[in-house]
Amino acid sequence: MTQAWDAPAPEAGKPVRHNAAGMGRVELSALLASLGEPSWRAAQILSGLLRQRWTRWEQFSNLSKALRARLEAEVDLAWPAIVQSHASSDGSTKHVFQLADGHQIEGVHMPYAVRGSGLRPTPPDIIEEELDRVTLCLSSQVGCAMGCTFCATGQMGIIRNLSAAEIVGQVMAMLLHHGHPPDRPINLVFMGMGEPLHNFDHLMAAFATLTDAEGLAIPPRRITVSTSGLASGIERLGAFAKRPRLALSLNGTTDEHRSRIMPVNRVWNLEALAAVLGRFPLQSGERITLEYVLLKGHTDSQEDGRRLAAFARRFPAKINLIPFNPHEGSGFETPDEARISAFCQLLSDADLPVSVRRSRGQDVAGACGQLVREGQSRHPKTR
Ligand code: SAH
Ligand code: SF4
Repeated sequence: MTQAWDAPAPEAGKPVRHNAAGMGRVELSALLASLGEPSWRAAQILSGLLRQRWTRWEQFSNLSKALRARLEAEVDLAWPAIVQSHASSDGSTKHVFQLADGHQIEGVHMPYAVRGSGLRPTPPDIIEEELDRVTLCLSSQVGCAMGCTFCATGQMGIIRNLSAAEIVGQVMAMLLHHGHPPDRPINLVFMGMGEPLHNFDHLMAAFATLTDAEGLAIPPRRITVSTSGLASGIERLGAFAKRPRLALSLNGTTDEHRSRIMPVNRVWNLEALAAVLGRFPLQSGERITLEYVLLKGHTDSQEDGRRLAAFARRFPAKINLIPFNPHEGSGFETPDEARISAFCQLLSDADLPVSVRRSRGQDVAGACGQLVREGQSRHPKTR
């Protein structure tokens, strides 16, 4: 389904030059059909692009010389360009990608385990078996329509949805940039710019490509989608037999407080969310992650902690506390360590699985949307 904020369609009458990078089986089959080739070759191209990570058509030794030459002449193979990379002292690298239309988005490469529950406190705390794991934080939109008051991306407004190819492109651009070994396991979290369930069809198309056995073959349980609480999208996601894991950004424990910082709560309030999450069909051992941003004086009281615990008991949940990552002009502050610990302790005393996400890359303008927004204010005419 096309949304009003999807990328503009190509101009009528102009020849379209296709870019195969990021295409899934369906698009590759259609592309091959347009070249008079059989659709089963889609699996060969997918394998070359994602598993072999070939970046030039001449490398596709699984295709005939004639087809390679034709692809070279007619089809592009270009992943999104990384135009800025900011390495943080914790080992993570935040990347800014430039899309074909000039818009910019952010993604983060974290060479350690980040589960659906969020980032673990510090690299040495990571359990051994997961040390070889890499987590990539991905964007789903340019900007975001949800307008959460504490979020830098929310303050940009929505510019457009990312295509499925642009979502897959972020993964491949980061793997290529970091020389990621093919056998090293990958976790994906949709916790960058944008509301993934607002871009549902492209998200699920990208999910199909990222989990495709011919390509990266990422197990679905290693992919987590974080939503601000679009109940209709959560319901839709639950209907898929093969789907990513779910995280809900709760961030408020009364409708009054939550609506003040997350306008979406005026459409789907806490009761509506609890109902839809209670119905969400979970696999054995699966839990829904509740992300909870700690904003000094707004969401960090002991009463909030007790209400959060009560909410989390209504379905299998784990809680991920995220101390606010400050950015200019937000008007919010981060609670001090003692207050964060007391909040965490209350939940752990209530026997709820809880972790605190330390802001990765805080020293490089950490949370989502902050680098792109800084760039915008420095170069207002570039976008
Ligand atoms: N739109 C989706 C996913 C992207 S935001 C969502 O809202 O869930 C990913 C997470 O970052 C959310 O839990 C959000 O509450 C949190 N977040 C946004 N801005 C933040 C900031 N400045 N500091 C800490 N967490 C932030
Ligand atoms: Fe959008 Fe998520 Fe930011 Fe809210 S927190 S504005 S939903 S990116």
